[in-house]
Amino acid sequence: MRILVVGTGAREHAIVHALAAETGPAGGAAHELHAAPGNPGIAREATLHAVDQNDGAAVTALARSLGADLVVVGPEAPLVAGVADAVAAAGIAVFGPTAAAARLEGSKSFAKDVMAAAGVPTAMAHVCATVDEVAAALDAFGAPYVVKDDGLAAGKGVVVTGDRDAALDHARAALAARADGTEPCVVVEEYLDGPEVSLFVISDGAAVVPLAPAQDFKRIFDGDEGPNTGGMGAYSPLDWAPGGLVDEVVERIAQPTIDEMARRGTPFAGVLYVGLALTSRGTRVVEFNARFGDPETQVVLTRLRTPLSAVLLAAATGSLGDLPPLRWSPSPVVNVVVAADGYPGTVRTGDPITGIVDAEALEGVHVLHAGTAHAQDGALVAAGGRVLSVVAEGATLDEARDRAYDAVAWIGLHGSQHRTDIALKAARGEITVTSP
Ligand code: AMP
Repeated sequence: MRILVVGTGAREHAIVHALAAETGPAGGAAHELHAAPGNPGIAREATLHAVDQNDGAAVTALARSLGADLVVVGPEAPLVAGVADAVAAAGIAVFGPTAAAARLEGSKSFAKDVMAAAGVPTAMAHVCATVDEVAAALDAFGAPYVVKDDGLAAGKGVVVTGDRDAALDHARAALAARADGTEPCVVVEEYLDGPEVSLFVISDGAAVVPLAPAQDFKRIFDGDEGPNTGGMGAYSPLDWAPGGLVDEVVERIAQPTIDEMARRGTPFAGVLYVGLALTSRGTRVVEFNARFGDPETQVVLTRLRTPLSAVLLAAATGSLGDLPPLRWSPSPVVNVVVAADGYPGTVRTGDPITGIVDAEALEGVHVLHAGTAHAQDGALVAAGGRVLSVVAEGATLDEARDRAYDAVAWIGLHGSQHRTDIALKAARGEITVTSP
């Protein structure tokens, strides 16, 4: 197939990397791969096109000129901007929900409304339009306090804090900032305890197929300290997760949500990212996203043995029901994100990155690019917050961790940061789920 992947991150690199590994009947590459706009790592495996990823008309024109059989839209911003709608309107198969369906991610209050209608278990929440309403909601739920911007914030619009003043400050800032003139609101939630799980569920608008669960690490520092980020690492599988978790999530959460979206006339086709907390009162949805999660995609797709193209095409063409059961590698995979100095605040860019070739020479390791660019002299330099995903597979979780961290040690980038405890608790058997 000729496939165009839209996006610039390590998630899109992971998608391209998985598609590039597929072989055709003669043993050569199965696909001709293109990316818009992509990044220097993706450029090793696909042809890049300098097109604005949020411009539906431009992406559609590119897909048409390439004769693309399938367009895969990676990030949330183009989905919410209607890029998948534009491509689909041109009669080209597209993996990614319409803008109307992507509201499941684009608006936290909309997602809460769908969950309520579908009977999906989630945190109790108040949608607040004023600081006084926020204060009342904080006091109703008590500490720890959870305050969320209603709109997209790249994983950084949520504060979870024991400090009531910090919670109010976040709400005040979120209520003040709405450039598009729409009424701002914030969502105040009850705190969910227990370990978190990310489960990606593929849907064609009617049927659902779950991928393997993963766990990600949202906070910037070891021990889950510091502010939330887009994600600092991930691993899969989750040996500690209760048996039957995936079936439970499909039956009680994913299928009812997909059915409710179809009932509303806005069917959701693409990947529904179900962020879960396994609380002492049962499984609860923390959040929905309308696309693959980054950094979890990097580990989940490394374990997928069914050709990814078959899964994406089936979702894009309404034929998921015909897909044979997915096949998985049992080997654990760990992803450690290398971030630039200053992340998740203002980041330092332009410093050279070294050591990727040495890191990839280690067994079971591959390095995916996110915020990288070529300087004028051709050197690879940091160009964003999360710079690289260092992904390693091992016979055990310990081995995957050791390989990932041996590889990270080869990466040179001034002031770079990474967590040293990705998958550590799981490897030590320290994660427990309290049954209700
Ligand atoms: P979200 O953008 O909704 O995914 O939230 C980002 C992160 O904040 C989640 O992955 C959780 O770690 C944390 N979080 C969000 N909502 C809650 C909640 N109700 N209770 C505890 N932690 C939460």
